[in-house]
Amino acid sequence: MHNKTISELALGLRVGDFTSVELTRSYLDRVSKFNNELNSYITVCEESALQSAEIADRRIRAGEAEPLLGIPIAHKDIFCTEGVKTSCGSKMLDNFIAPYDAHVVSLFNQSGAVMLGKTNMDEFAMGSSNENSYYGPVHNPWKLEAVPGGSSGGSASAVAAGLCVAATGTDTGGSIRQPAAFCGITGLKPTYGRVSRYGMIAFASSLDQGGPMTRTAEDAAAMLQVMAGFDPRDSTSADQPVPDYMAGLGNDLSGLRIGVPKEYLGGGLDADIEASIQLALAEYTRMGAELVEISLPNAQLGVPTYYVVAPAECSSNLSRFDGVRYGYRCSDPKDLEDLYKRSRGEGFGPEVKRRIMIGTYALSAGYYDAYYLKAQKIRHLISDDFREAFKKVDVIMGPTAPSTAFGIGEKSDDPVTMYLSDIYTIAVNLAGLPGMSIPVKPVGGMPVGLQLIGNYFEEAKLLNVAHRLQQETGWHSATPAGFE
Ligand code: GLN
Repeated sequence: MHNKTISELALGLRVGDFTSVELTRSYLDRVSKFNNELNSYITVCEESALQSAEIADRRIRAGEAEPLLGIPIAHKDIFCTEGVKTSCGSKMLDNFIAPYDAHVVSLFNQSGAVMLGKTNMDEFAMGSSNENSYYGPVHNPWKLEAVPGGSSGGSASAVAAGLCVAATGTDTGGSIRQPAAFCGITGLKPTYGRVSRYGMIAFASSLDQGGPMTRTAEDAAAMLQVMAGFDPRDSTSADQPVPDYMAGLGNDLSGLRIGVPKEYLGGGLDADIEASIQLALAEYTRMGAELVEISLPNAQLGVPTYYVVAPAECSSNLSRFDGVRYGYRCSDPKDLEDLYKRSRGEGFGPEVKRRIMIGTYALSAGYYDAYYLKAQKIRHLISDDFREAFKKVDVIMGPTAPSTAFGIGEKSDDPVTMYLSDIYTIAVNLAGLPGMSIPVKPVGGMPVGLQLIGNYFEEAKLLNVAHRLQQETGWHSATPAGFE
């Protein structure tokens, strides 16, 4: 059952091949069997999952047929879940039981999806390898000594190993797409504003966006259908109609213009990965698409720009964790200042502290113009590059990450090398565009991701383009040995 997609399982539930309680039980059994070696979940909600499954079974018996009714999913531990620990991968929130649901979580609850638990992640979503979690590193099911990518590494490894059908993730600079690439699954970062950030713990508010992590593009369409839409509680939520994402799947690709940025191929890209990407592009031309060389001249400024903007926003967002209102509080504080200093000093891990310090520095009066203002200007240039490109092409394609999953510990002492693993994904967040990663031909037995970038609110187009490749090739259906 655990190799099936959302639509296959939904059919099985409807025709009575199995119940949601049976399905949920079988996933919970897999979680208890494999979570020790993978560390994908921080919290498993066995009792409440079985209760929601029972309710779903009653609704199914009554003839209801919503696409996610009775389907077991998991949420990244950055989404607030009422009555359930919401740690954000941090010691700071290890004792935090959220008093309300994130908007996305309530939408999934209403859809009848069953929440199996909360997945592991880099602390406050800062990282590319899931090694920055207070709860220890997550392992990649394709090779246990390798990282799953980050920061949504728990969700990616859980989906890849069949410890849930689908999961939510968040992507500030690549955290849905890069772990999707490393674990051989499908990941979609929607247009900024498409999915509400209400109740999603903030890292860098102008970049953060939640999205689905699934086995297929079709499943991503089903998940996005639930997640997308206007939410007045998020002031940056887009008041735009939500199309029927399933309806466009299977559309013909003839005449599709695919932009291939010359800056994304060659250069620092591993030659084997480039070959995999070229193979996928050839598959698209066989389906009638046309390749157009484009240029994103400012793309190489994405990483340095991001590492000013994201830390600046994080230094402000994380100031709320002060030991006073909620979260970790140091023992026996001498006075207020000691309470602040020690609660934050003991509650945050090293990468979070590094970001807070960089951000505070970049925002300080003497340096604001030199760093933050300059970064905002470059952000515009990066968006303009995409705007120009989308005058000529329908989608942009390239690699998701410069390498396959690297070893645990391999880059943890070198933050700059770690930051470079998001070199192809970060510009998309700076511009606020939708991006996807789907599996293509593996290299050395490890998954490789093809990145698809669309124009604003063109998720339906991306999903269709991804779905067509998945219908033509079997690349997305490979599963890691040992987790069959
Ligand atoms: N790896 C990037 C960072 O550490 C992106 C993280 C993310 O998308 N949440 O900031």
